[in-house]
Amino acid sequence: MPTQTLGAMQGQSMRITHVIDHAAREASGREIVTHWADGSETRTDWAGIRRDALKMAQALEALGIKPGERVASLAMNHSRHLVSWYGVAGMGGVLHTVNPRLFEDQLEYIVNHAEDRVLLYDAAFQPIVDKMKDRWTSVDHYICFDSGDHSPSFEEWIGEQDGHYDWYQGDERDPCMICYTSGTTGNPKGVQYEHRSTMMHAVAGLQPSAFNFSSGSVMLPVVPMFHAASWGLPYAGGMAGVKFVFSAVNDPAVLHDLMIREGVTDSAGVPTVWLAHFQYCDREGLDLPPLKAATIGGSACPRFMIERLMKNGTRVQHAWGMTETSPIGTVGGPTWDWDQLTFEEKVDKTAMQGRPIFGVELRIVDLEDMTTELARDGKTSGALQIRGPWIIRRYFKGETDATNSEGWFDTGDVGIIHPDGTLQLTDRTKDVIKSGGEWISSVELENAAVGHAEVAEAACVGMYHSKWDERPVLFVVRNEGSKVTADDIMDHLKPLIAKWWLPDAIEFVDDIPHTATGKISKKDLRERFSDYKLEG
Ligand code: AMP
Repeated sequence: MPTQTLGAMQGQSMRITHVIDHAAREASGREIVTHWADGSETRTDWAGIRRDALKMAQALEALGIKPGERVASLAMNHSRHLVSWYGVAGMGGVLHTVNPRLFEDQLEYIVNHAEDRVLLYDAAFQPIVDKMKDRWTSVDHYICFDSGDHSPSFEEWIGEQDGHYDWYQGDERDPCMICYTSGTTGNPKGVQYEHRSTMMHAVAGLQPSAFNFSSGSVMLPVVPMFHAASWGLPYAGGMAGVKFVFSAVNDPAVLHDLMIREGVTDSAGVPTVWLAHFQYCDREGLDLPPLKAATIGGSACPRFMIERLMKNGTRVQHAWGMTETSPIGTVGGPTWDWDQLTFEEKVDKTAMQGRPIFGVELRIVDLEDMTTELARDGKTSGALQIRGPWIIRRYFKGETDATNSEGWFDTGDVGIIHPDGTLQLTDRTKDVIKSGGEWISSVELENAAVGHAEVAEAACVGMYHSKWDERPVLFVVRNEGSKVTADDIMDHLKPLIAKWWLPDAIEFVDDIPHTATGKISKKDLRERFSDYKLEG
């Protein structure tokens, strides 16, 4: 008998086209609703998305686009953008979702670096296109997603095709998407996702301890489709056959109204989105929408937000990840001991960053040597590393691997791992403050400071100190009209943090610099205060 080296199962390749085929077959009539920038609303369904994606694949081929080439989108969340997620991948192309909030130099760099051939854009971003057109050297075709004055419009463009198309059959390790990091240092870097990695990431996202989707889920993703692959939702949603409700505008009034009218059960967004929603509801005297689950990530979800959503009956799924990790690494959800926890304990646990979803491994290592693995004891903090099938190996056009020889990727984050696997992020490796050989978490100091009712924003950086190496300095933006003093803030901090962590100085500033994705840019803050001298 010959030795059988392979198993006896079918080996369909894990290409993204399977997701849209499945969604169109099994959830054909499940609606995809879009609220457009001009206030109009359209409805299609999964079968309609597939029909248009087939036409789009043909239309791209008609332009001469070849498998492996990049097609860029500069767009908010809507059904035509969703079509592109499947249409580009379906003809073997690579969708490059461009963040319209990037600075001009970054926009120029990433489109040229990716060598994008086609650029699909929302009419709202016409001014960006007009300004950048001459600087984007590789783009041959511009297509406007909105119908109307701009030609050719997306609908006209794909409307010329009959949709009789067979998906391109390539390897499952072929690329299907590329996202660039926000680039807090140096140029942004491209992270090219594969069909297989994307598929596995989306399947993992369906776990009950992750997005917990069912066919009854109605999902309104506020996280933009241009940010970190929209957390994989467009694909996980297709697998589960959810109803999607998209809004091309990020106005809390519109989002709130859509959530109520369309029976939204699930939503996802960064903390600032939820904050804006709270403020809107408070102003208008409205209840929060009755969501079953809210996924919150991108930056730390504050405790008060978790508390308010949980009191509203909404399960909070606090997630951590990054562009390099597709992006989901960990998600918080009820743990095995959930029923035995008090409300306060549940909030405390949810304020941490959740547990790794199946498929990825996390570890923390010594911040000095970056290799010695540290205990998962809920106390020790170290540099966070991750590996798994949807974690970056090498940046786009990179010459060397971005991981060590065992596949571990340095996230640049610092955290604690608890015995039950819960990750608690404490800082970034570049921002953690080394004082007299001990580490101080700048993030914990900031969190404590923003807990003061008169503090609008706070950022903490380590400044050179002759005796201690570095000591924390806290930069604070006061609420409008507030006259809060450094002593007031110090009194507020004292009961919350260890004495030796207290900042050596508190400086009031009018504003704190941010990156294009809205995160505090400590690099810019340090540059702004490069002449700063601490006494002592
Ligand atoms: P980006 O690649 O732009 O999505 O940024 C990824 C970085 O955002 C991570 O490395 C973290 O520093 C930060 N981040 C993401 N999610 C969280 C979270 N839930 N809590 C704290 N920081 C987060």
